Amino acid sequence: MNIALIAHDEKKELMVQFCIAYCGVLSRNNLCATGTTGKIVSEATGLTVQKFLSGAQGGSQQIAARIACNEIDMLLFFRDPLNQKPNEANDMDMLRLCDMHNIPVATNIATAEVLIHGLERGDLDWRNIIK
Ligand code: PGA
Repeated sequence: MNIALIAHDEKKELMVQFCIAYCGVLSRNNLCATGTTGKIVSEATGLTVQKFLSGAQGGSQQIAARIACNEIDMLLFFRDPLNQKPNEANDMDMLRLCDMHNIPVATNIATAEVLIHGLERGDLDWRNIIK
């Protein structure tokens, strides 16, 4: 499965902790991420992460383009609910594209844990079948 990781600055440490906790299952999948998120996750975990541009430079749009082509099977996007981001509209469009293709998406760690457990259990194997 292709898993995309994005974390706003205030949630990056949480993303690192999440990836350390679920390093095993994540290592059996293909990971990609926006630039800074990918860098800190790969440094902290040793996981191989395909890094796109940083979010501010268009990395989110690069991931959104793959979501639009149904090439991403799960999006873990840890959003900061307190501070408005300059590219908020793009973020919303990315979530819209996930809905278009029924791509499982988590915007906080509680949902991310449910998705990761589901992934381990095979609940998302249908994604391989439709492809
Ligand atoms: P970053 O992008 O991982 O490059 O910081 C995420 C974001 O848009 O905040």
